[in-house]
Amino acid sequence: MDDCIFCKLFEGKIPSTRIYEDDTVIGFKDLRPQARIHQLFIHKQHTRDINDLVSTDPNQLTELFRAIAAYTAREGLTRGGFRIVTNLGPDAGQTVFHTHLHLLAGEQLGPFGA
Ligand code: AMP
Ligand code: ZN
Repeated sequence: MDDCIFCKLFEGKIPSTRIYEDDTVIGFKDLRPQARIHQLFIHKQHTRDINDLVSTDPNQLTELFRAIAAYTAREGLTRGGFRIVTNLGPDAGQTVFHTHLHLLAGEQLGPFGA
């Protein structure tokens, strides 16, 4: 999609620090980390939010979570644990309209939902 910053990032048209890639998913560092480890995982196929993704192709969910499982195992993050967050719409504060899962880890995380 032409106007989407995460499509541009995936195509290499804007810079990112990529920490994971497979056939269908990439992971990269969030520009403004909200935990010691804060990565974003996106599917290479554009959808605008998690509900759009599920109605477009629910297999993408499996591919995203498989990628996160591989990454967190590789990086030893399963011992301390981690949190996955996705925002949809203004009340949740979604700012980028290419579905993404936030992976937060690397320290004791605070409460959420505030
Ligand atoms: P959300 O508010 O859930 O839509 O999350 C969007 C996230 O994307 C925020 O945490 C931003 O810091 C992050 N972000 C925006 N632009 C970039 C970028 N070019 N590279 C990495 N992370 C980005
Ligand atoms: Zn996109």
